[in-house]
Amino acid sequence: MPKSSNKTSVVGQVVLLSVLIVALSFFSVVLWDAKPEEIPEARDWVLNEQMRIAEFAEANNVTEQILKEALHLTSKEELSKTIGSLGFSLAEIIARVEKAFALQAEHESKNWIKIRVKFVLWTTILVFVFVLLRHNRVTSRMRKSLYAFSIVLFGVIFGSDPSPMGTVKDAIALYGAKGAIFPPRMVALAIFLLMVVLANKFICSWGCQLGTLQDLLFRLNRDSRDRKGILRQYKIPFFVSNGVRILFFILFTIAAFLWAIDIVEPIDPFKVYKPQFVGIWGGIFIAAILLLSMIIYRPWCSLFCPFGLVGWLFEKISLFKVKVNYDTCIACEACARACPSTVMEAILKRDRVIPDCFACGTCIEVCPTHSISFSACKRVKTPVGKFTKDKETKRQQDIE
Ligand code: SF4
Ligand code: SF4
Repeated sequence: MPKSSNKTSVVGQVVLLSVLIVALSFFSVVLWDAKPEEIPEARDWVLNEQMRIAEFAEANNVTEQILKEALHLTSKEELSKTIGSLGFSLAEIIARVEKAFALQAEHESKNWIKIRVKFVLWTTILVFVFVLLRHNRVTSRMRKSLYAFSIVLFGVIFGSDPSPMGTVKDAIALYGAKGAIFPPRMVALAIFLLMVVLANKFICSWGCQLGTLQDLLFRLNRDSRDRKGILRQYKIPFFVSNGVRILFFILFTIAAFLWAIDIVEPIDPFKVYKPQFVGIWGGIFIAAILLLSMIIYRPWCSLFCPFGLVGWLFEKISLFKVKVNYDTCIACEACARACPSTVMEAILKRDRVIPDCFACGTCIEVCPTHSISFSACKRVKTPVGKFTKDKETKRQQDIE
């Protein structure tokens, strides 16, 4: 087949797959009767020191449960006390009630059975892939099938929430806007980070519904051996991608704390699995991320994702990670060329800063001497002088 028709076919597959996912997710949202997750907006409160608590509740439509939690009431009799007798300033009372409202909204927006089942399935699939990777059984074909499976199960069927990204983003947005911490979310975040500490970014690699989608779109644009792109693929230098990601994180946090605004919400690409709740700018942004995924490895993860950033920090203490055995390594650099990002090159070249490794296993698969493994214990430093090939030799290898 001529090269240009290969390229057209890649774009066609990517567009078709994206449209299919959006369409199936649309029906999935309807079937689950999923609700949008929103932090309640600030409102005008009717309140003064002389008011009784019961009057305040009635005037503002506040339930007894909210009052109990927000103002620490222990009996119904306390409803006849005046607001002034509570010992809080009016601003403090409003903040407490708004916080209780936000936590209640969080609780009610979740389908708790679905969330528990999703975590059990996540753990099962990750353990399964972990065993495969440990035994060097992940081939390029299987990788694509596993990604497709994760997309359908964790994205289309189980939806956009929960997600590793959501745990960090929503925690910051909620705390910034209402000063509230939603305990189940912190538990979920702790589980995801524990996964990173145990096995690198395994949750991002094989479980995250958006991460696996970007990865599959990237792989659709690779040759049959998953070595290089059909349409040219680009590796963004890590200092650029991580710099953008850090800046975005800072901007997001400042907006959440100073103006109670969640800047990710309108463009949240996880909403590809919740298309009913996507606005026009969100739609454009999501389409751009999906199309860019063909030529840049996981653009959302490397440029924007808050969990991507936090996970990258925790990766440093991961127990299991990609490791090279330099006794058998012949310094051909096939792994670095096949790696979809700059991480393998950084590992080989002993760079001080190692980028995110998504534990995809491509480097393990392509190594001709089986010198790469996904194993425990510290990475050994590359022997000095092992990778000093002249530029011309490397250029020749790239061409081959
Ligand atoms: S970094 Fe990527 S894979 Fe990981 S949570 Fe974010 S979007 Fe998902
Ligand atoms: S080093 Fe690259 S190819 Fe190897 S597992 Fe990590 S991201 Fe994949």
